[in-house]
Amino acid sequence: MVPNVPGRARVIAIANQKGGVGKSTTAVSLGAALADIGYRVLVADLDPQGNASTGMGIRHDAREVTVYDVVVSEAEIQDAIVHTPVERLHAVPATIDLAGAEIELVSQFSRESRLKKAIEPVLEGAYDFILLDCPPSLGLLTINALTAAEELIVPIQCEYYALEGLGQLLRNVSLVQQNINSGLRLSGIVMTMFDPRTKLSEQVVAEVKRHFGDLVYDVIIPRTVRLSEAPGFGQPITIYDAKSKGAQAYRQLAQEVALRPPPEAPMPQFDKMPIAVMPPMERPEGAEGASGNGGHPEPSEEPRASRSDPMIERAAEREPVVDLTPEPAAPEPRPETAARQPEPESQPADPAPQVEMAASPTSSPPPARKASGTAVDADDDAWEEPARQPEPRVKPPSRPAPPGELPQRRVVVIDENSDIDIEAGQEAPPAPADEHREGMADIGATLDEELGRKRRWRMFRKGGD
Ligand code: ADP
Ligand code: MG
Repeated sequence: MVPNVPGRARVIAIANQKGGVGKSTTAVSLGAALADIGYRVLVADLDPQGNASTGMGIRHDAREVTVYDVVVSEAEIQDAIVHTPVERLHAVPATIDLAGAEIELVSQFSRESRLKKAIEPVLEGAYDFILLDCPPSLGLLTINALTAAEELIVPIQCEYYALEGLGQLLRNVSLVQQNINSGLRLSGIVMTMFDPRTKLSEQVVAEVKRHFGDLVYDVIIPRTVRLSEAPGFGQPITIYDAKSKGAQAYRQLAQEVALRPPPEAPMPQFDKMPIAVMPPMERPEGAEGASGNGGHPEPSEEPRASRSDPMIERAAEREPVVDLTPEPAAPEPRPETAARQPEPESQPADPAPQVEMAASPTSSPPPARKASGTAVDADDDAWEEPARQPEPRVKPPSRPAPPGELPQRRVVVIDENSDIDIEAGQEAPPAPADEHREGMADIGATLDEELGRKRRWRMFRKGGD
């Protein structure tokens, strides 16, 4: 595979199996911004909800031939392409029919490469970019996108559960890379819905950069009213309010995407993403000697959940533990970790040994880029509502930590599962006793609705006051 061949489209999947993180907004806004610069862009809507189609102003009666027909019934893609209000921006729309595709494709021949085959006729000469807006799942439609694409952009929302599920997504990407599409590259991560008024947004950006380094695009998309309004008017932000902060941010993203070629090397192995990031002093005895996994502590070594608790077991599959331990001002790498686990040169020095960026022998770090991100300030069109995700209810330490000292406070989040009988806003009953959570304070639970399924997240605090 040779990306960036003149005349050949760069095919970019925009994926994250979490819903509401800004995939469709990014597909539409990035597509429109690229078209503004002069590129010819096709956005294929792979989500049965059709949000990208709506965001590009494609009315339902104009969705005659859709992605469904192209992928399931082998209709010609040219028959499905429609124009949008933006010059040079075309779309392949989706309707709710596409929901059936996940099931119908299961029994079909080369079910994961249907989209790849479908877009072949428009790969050469017709477009500079083909953006694939993925559904919020890791099903066959997303796999089709990852098979058809040469590049992947992952939007991550600046919110508390930002990293949740990311390990699973990247494992799937690795599987696709190894088995179906060796040319697939993780081109970048775009931080979305940044709220400059919350410390949490900054923490999440810092945390994501700690894991992914230069793969994170410099521009950070702010949470703005205009961006949330634009789809209702069927207009990409670049025409709904061309001067808005959101439009500016997506124009900057378009520049970055256009100028930064996809990495040459396959994606580094992120499949050992931590399920828990613990302050160094809390590392369990014996974890250093663990062999066969690059010295990474086994999940069972984390003092977070009893494996005998079925609820927690399910939680364990979901990488439920998030750490919000603030970083010390001047991190000192732990010598034994540095010796065993050299970081790629371009990765930021990392005081937390559990952050794993272990590159596979064939992989190389992403190209070095400017280290600092640039959040576009929100002002006139700033988000006025309080952030939807409240900051975790963590009491501040009663005394400020001396400079350079790593505060020993961390928050552990456990997905307690969906079979619960409380409604949003109600107080959750206290958590059942668990020896592994000894010494940890139960600081409450939140109720989340994800993919129509209720989930309760319980937070514990370990250490600190
Ligand atoms: P996904 O495709 O990942 O499900 P969307 O792009 O549809 O996510 O975004 C989810 C919701 O958040 C939509 O209502 C969208 O308008 C809104 N939204 C997305 N990005 C922003 C932003 N930067 N500022 C404000 N609202 C946003
Ligand atoms: Mg979407």
